[in-house]
Amino acid sequence: FPFLIRTGLPEEVLPKLINDTRASLISFNKDITPFAMKRDKDIRLRLEKCGIKIMACVDHVVFPASDIRTGSGNAYKIYTPYRNRWLEKWKNDPQSPISPTCLRRAIPGFFSETLERPHTVGVNSENTSIPLGGEEVARSRLNSFLDSAVKHYHRDRDVPGVDGTSRLSAYIRFGTISVRECFFKIQELINVDPHSCPGAKKWCDELIWREFYSSILEENSRVINQNYHSEYNSLIWTGSVAEFETWCAGETGFPIVDAGIRQLKSTGWMHNRIRMIVASFLTKDLLINWKEGERFFAEYLLDYDPASNSGGWQWAASTGADSQPYFRIFNPELQAKKWDPQGVYVRRWLPELRSVEDRYVHNPWESGKSVSYPRPMVNHHERRKLALEIFSRIRKKKERK
Ligand code: FAD
Repeated sequence: FPFLIRTGLPEEVLPKLINDTRASLISFNKDITPFAMKRDKDIRLRLEKCGIKIMACVDHVVFPASDIRTGSGNAYKIYTPYRNRWLEKWKNDPQSPISPTCLRRAIPGFFSETLERPHTVGVNSENTSIPLGGEEVARSRLNSFLDSAVKHYHRDRDVPGVDGTSRLSAYIRFGTISVRECFFKIQELINVDPHSCPGAKKWCDELIWREFYSSILEENSRVINQNYHSEYNSLIWTGSVAEFETWCAGETGFPIVDAGIRQLKSTGWMHNRIRMIVASFLTKDLLINWKEGERFFAEYLLDYDPASNSGGWQWAASTGADSQPYFRIFNPELQAKKWDPQGVYVRRWLPELRSVEDRYVHNPWESGKSVSYPRPMVNHHERRKLALEIFSRIRKKKERK
């Protein structure tokens, strides 16, 4: 059979396809989100009743949660010991990617022309700021990152004005490049090129954060939309709808936050350091529930991944597994001055600040000149005090129990 594309409800489409093709085995990649787990379980039961064999594979991550356990057989809750165990497992059992030639032979029509045209699956490809998809693009991006930027990744990854990260997240998310291939190549580099080591090791650590968040979700399906640490369920998020709308519009008056929101809306991607800053601002300065921000990101991110997104948001909100301690609250102006000292990033996304002097680009309200840019919507120092009071009350309650 050639490669076929069928759309519709799986419970309707699959039995018909099985009938048409007289298939005796269905193989698919596991998806660990609660919706997909239920869907796959229902279909599995239905098909098994009809004598169809099912083969569910792990492909979204290298090691599922069941492979990385503590000495007593439990799942890890903290990243560093998880990473150490992960690396040990990889050392004993490295996972090679499947070669493209082997896939080409197995599924002859798979690489057909129809897959390369976005409009065939209802996607409007007019927007030129949306990156090209596909394995070739992803592989050449991976190779060029490993040839150069990875050497400085440990230094540049936090600087939003520099193109210092791989920009592979959407490709990894959708499997257009296999995460196994990414791990395989980075481990190879670590072994052969000591100059690339600090950057390469850091990049590998980031890929393992992705595996960690996936295993947290696999073990605790509720974290997709609930606090990992349930004591925070009693936290009253006092932020208003109007404040949320101002944040969503990128009009908070804090340039680093607004630039991030504009980058996200224009390109479907936001730099990691900026994701942390905008998420901290929403949850700690505005005291708005991280779930609101998570939904907003889900709507715009091309790399939207339920495990990493809820993981990242709960990290910033201090409600998650191995998250930012509640008393460490980012000051958006200081973060901006540290990571974007000349305002390269901010000016790229906020043209209204292009002619502001460097020293005022992150606090234009202090320049004394008229700039068509909003004043800060809140006083960070007051909001920080309020957040500390609210979060520490909950922590104390927990400690008393
Ligand atoms: P690189 O720095 O080149 O990293 C390589 C790969 O490692 C990434 O492509 C990604 O697959 C993985 N990775 C890197 N950092 C992280 C991290 N902190 N957590 C998990 N995986 C990571 N990442 C997503 O893929 N999807 C999301 O929906 C998502 N939502 C986020 C929400 C918030 C609030 C925060 C703080 C982070 C979120 N991240 C998410 C993680 C991170 O911001 C992106 O993976 C990264 O910015 C993608 O850019 P890159 O490919 O250039 O990353």
